[in-house]
Amino acid sequence: MKKTVSLIIPSYNEEKNIRPFFDLCKNTLTDNFSYEYIFINDGSKDNTLFEIKNLVENFPEEKIIGINFSRNFGKESAILAGLHQASGDYISLIDADLQQHPRYVSQMLDLLEANENLDMVAAYQKERKEGKVLSFFKKTFYSLINKISETEFKDNASDFRTFRSQVKDSILDLDEYNRFSKGLFSWVGYNTEFIEYIVDERINGKSSWSFTSLTKYALEGFVGYSILPLRIASFLGAITSFIAGIYMIYVIINKLLGNVYVSGYTTIVSLILLFAGLILLSLGIIGEYIAKIYLEVKDRPHYIIKDIIKK
Ligand code: UDP
Ligand code: MG
Repeated sequence: MKKTVSLIIPSYNEEKNIRPFFDLCKNTLTDNFSYEYIFINDGSKDNTLFEIKNLVENFPEEKIIGINFSRNFGKESAILAGLHQASGDYISLIDADLQQHPRYVSQMLDLLEANENLDMVAAYQKERKEGKVLSFFKKTFYSLINKISETEFKDNASDFRTFRSQVKDSILDLDEYNRFSKGLFSWVGYNTEFIEYIVDERINGKSSWSFTSLTKYALEGFVGYSILPLRIASFLGAITSFIAGIYMIYVIINKLLGNVYVSGYTTIVSLILLFAGLILLSLGIIGEYIAKIYLEVKDRPHYIIKDIIKK
């Protein structure tokens, strides 16, 4: 019997890509495996769902499953739903937008087949095709998070990857609400090989990442994988209290010696501003963590499935 590969395909507003994506897979993926296509319609506002239904109708001989979310829950939730559904010996995460060519999936599968000790193959972009500013911020993100977090993050690794079902089980054991899949995959460990890949241009539709959403995502990574920011807050607090204490002694001694002048307005204003700034900064950092804890304790589901489409 052939081994099965579950392809998890998060799809948000990809009506023009679903069919071409499927055709490309059919033409590219080798016969060495049987494939299970899991499309997750993540609350698309266009006809993505219709296109998925069409595939299910028109290709009854293929195993195609459509998971239809009740609204947009984000790519991380879509991946999670796909993982819950996946039954294959191997699992591949791949975008629906044709930017990640399925030939790399075959390459990943070959590597996994050839080496029993290998558990996961992930693709990374050697050169980013995006603007200088964005790529600068991304670089900074990776170097910072690798310095402050104990989990290792591979520079430019994408969530375009293929792994054994055992890795899937481990990922599913991590039931946190705030999901940052790059972090989850590093955290579970396993032997991972990184292969280089070239991202194709997006032909249809547009990327749903804006600078703001990327910043939020990066912040998620920091707060989710490190408590160093909290320590920085305490450290800043300790240092400033120490300096303030010394200054207080100095002021008191001056007072006792009768050297107090009414002037000193500048000093006072500067100190107030400095400390107010530090207090707000620390509160902000603590707030980030409390917000995360709040979301975790509510223990809401990661997604809601409206219906599942299959033959
Ligand atoms: N996606 C999703 N839910 C979202 C946003 C994106 O399922 O809320 C899917 C999208 O359809 C695509 C993949 O995630 O298949 C990658 O999204 P995108 O192309 O916007 O990201 P980029 O390639 O720019 O990183
Ligand atoms: Mg894309």
